[in-house]
Amino acid sequence: RLVDPAAVLAGLDDEQRAAVLAPRGPVCILAGAGTGKTRAITHRIAHGVLTQATAPNHVLAVTFTARAAGEMRGRLRALGVAGVQARTFHAAALRQLRYFAPRVFDGRAMPDLLETKARVVGQAASHQRVKLDRTGVRDLTSEIEWAKSAMVEPDGYAVAATDAARETPLPPDQVAAVYAGYEQLKRRMGVIDFEDLLRATIWAIEDHRDVAEQIRAQYRHFVVDEYQDVNPLQQRLLEAWCGGRDDLTVVGDASQTIYSFTGADASYLIDFPRRHRGAVVIRLERDYRSTPQVVGLANEVIAAGRGVEAAVRLQLIGQRAPGPKPRVSHYPDEPAEAGAVAARCRELLRSGVSAAEIAVLFRTNAQSETYEQALADVGVPYVVRGGERFFERPEVREAMLLLRGAARAAQSDEASSTVDAVTGALSGLDWRADSPPSGGAARERWESIAALLRLAEETVGAGTPAAEGLPRFVDELAARAAAQHVPTVDGVTLGSLHAAKGLEWDAVFLVGLAEGTLPITYAKTPAQLEEERRLLYVGVTRAREHLWLSWAAARSPGGRGSRRPCRFLPAGALPAGVPGTSVAPSVKPSSRPAARSLPTCRICGVALFDPRHRKLRRCGECPANYDEELYERLQAWRGALAREQKLPPYVVFTDA
Ligand code: ATP
Ligand code: MG
Repeated sequence: RLVDPAAVLAGLDDEQRAAVLAPRGPVCILAGAGTGKTRAITHRIAHGVLTQATAPNHVLAVTFTARAAGEMRGRLRALGVAGVQARTFHAAALRQLRYFAPRVFDGRAMPDLLETKARVVGQAASHQRVKLDRTGVRDLTSEIEWAKSAMVEPDGYAVAATDAARETPLPPDQVAAVYAGYEQLKRRMGVIDFEDLLRATIWAIEDHRDVAEQIRAQYRHFVVDEYQDVNPLQQRLLEAWCGGRDDLTVVGDASQTIYSFTGADASYLIDFPRRHRGAVVIRLERDYRSTPQVVGLANEVIAAGRGVEAAVRLQLIGQRAPGPKPRVSHYPDEPAEAGAVAARCRELLRSGVSAAEIAVLFRTNAQSETYEQALADVGVPYVVRGGERFFERPEVREAMLLLRGAARAAQSDEASSTVDAVTGALSGLDWRADSPPSGGAARERWESIAALLRLAEETVGAGTPAAEGLPRFVDELAARAAAQHVPTVDGVTLGSLHAAKGLEWDAVFLVGLAEGTLPITYAKTPAQLEEERRLLYVGVTRAREHLWLSWAAARSPGGRGSRRPCRFLPAGALPAGVPGTSVAPSVKPSSRPAARSLPTCRICGVALFDPRHRKLRRCGECPANYDEELYERLQAWRGALAREQKLPPYVVFTDA
């Protein structure tokens, strides 16, 4: 166990160290994939705690996926730091709302979380006599999610959707009607959805002074990982938590924004230094995760991008020893592609790579099945991440019911540990820790329960008393089920590109990289297409060492093999003889200057959206903007460092 704060600084480069040592106050790390952003913030938290500048229970660290939150907790534990809250926005909100429920819901218990949103949206649609297939329901569900994340009520939907140039799945007034019906159905069922959970927490803080005071006494230091994915609703919650205080560290990579369709807005990240005077801005460009070969491909994929993030992007510089070149292959049909991937997985396992270090990533969850089949055929264990499967397994549903009952019964049980209470509650499922069955279905059932138990240990700790731990575990499960975050099992990870964010594996297979799948057919506008490009960038940057990219010309054997490779694959990376896919621009170039040409501040590197600062090439927030002498000194300093080839890609400045 580390207790020496100096050890926390040891494994960091100069810029990361600057992030760790920056004084209390707003800090913003803008950097590409694999540059150690998550590492920098976990070390910043650990350093604060170990030097006793920060009490661990005063820190609230939030991120967007349960797995990423778990990873942060794991890294903090490894640094010898306990007691820091590292959670998803939803899990943090759920915990707070449950605590304040009697005050917020007039003495009533907190409503249950709705786990099957699409079903209720489908019901609301049929009440409105709107006929939809599964895809239609899905699109409508995401549209309602977008509206709620943008804090748009049914009444204001039509106007807001037009303003935001949404491609609505139905005429806007129909979406609004289904949205209103959905809200009504939920009220009648006595349940709340994910967005309601955040909204209710915001109201609890904004409308109840005692709640606000208690929250503010509890949390004093805030950290947000993957901040590029924050949406207006989450941003408002963050502001409610902070309550005007500014001890806030955000990190993100605008090139990895992949949730715009649910309202994520990278401009919160890009504009952070402008919104927070005196913010310390740090940019990282050294990539510690991937081989230079993988880094090179990642740079190529994203360099051609034209999103707003282009202005703030840095080239990644690979730090690791060279490795194998990323391999790009194509197959006549999908089963052939999946078969080849499965065979390679088996070779990797034989060569000593652990199954947990391999991932197969795809654009849509529907692609999972072919790969599950192919891996099962060659006897390679796998886990489906972010798919619908895990929480829909009957044994998991049953286990969750049993646990919910047990949590209610355990209110005064301080005697047994959580993990024992979970095992006890699940004994009704005839589960034995020591005897995994050998047969397929029974084995899968056993694996599910084993995964739940491991999750209980990981999220609440083995020794926590049942009275406290069981309700917390049940909350965690509900949040994960709603977000489809599957607990870890040892096996090759099968998952969507969305679910893979922030994670890394030794070997990564990016499959189905054909036009129509990536970019997906319904991505039509330039903004949607740019998001598809960023998805590929996220995928490529997950690989530490081995990276295979592939697509199939047809869906099934004997089909018309007319699919073309994903347009974002650089032509130079394609197998010999395969022409790249070039696509004529679908819209006329807009008269607005391309984001790429936006000038950036010469000091902090932030894009200059404000025309007043263009000539000076310095952003409004840089102190040097008002102080020529300071500017000259900074430039001289940068010049000297550049000559010694030690130029840091950041400048730290504070109000002092
Ligand atoms: P992403 O954008 O994908 O979330 P990230 O910027 O958060 O990536 P990390 O996950 O923090 O990157 O780091 C990537 C990998 O590089 C991790 O395995 C981490 O341990 C390693 N790493 C980061 N910084 C250093 C360093 N200074 N020295 C050695 N390894 C490092
Ligand atoms: Mg990260």
